[in-house]
Amino acid sequence: PYVIADACIDVTDRTCIEECPVDCIYEGSRKLYINPAECIDCGACEPVCPVSAIRSDRKVPEAKKAFIADNARFFAEP
Ligand code: SF4
Repeated sequence: PYVIADACIDVTDRTCIEECPVDCIYEGSRKLYINPAECIDCGACEPVCPVSAIRSDRKVPEAKKAFIADNARFFAEP
């Protein structure tokens, strides 16, 4: 799945939400999150993000890998 990292924090531009064909991008209190169970890996969201916060989980830089688990945790059952 695709993952949204720290560049989104307090930006939440939402263009990606309009772009996503399966509506799997959700809004948290300070950033947006991609549901890894719903994302179809189409890549449509990545180029439209004005702060380049979105990457495929296979291409997330080492320093931002914590956001892969952080995105998944957002959708985990409490
Ligand atoms: Fe939605 Fe495609 Fe981005 Fe996944 S890669 S979040 S399906 S736009």
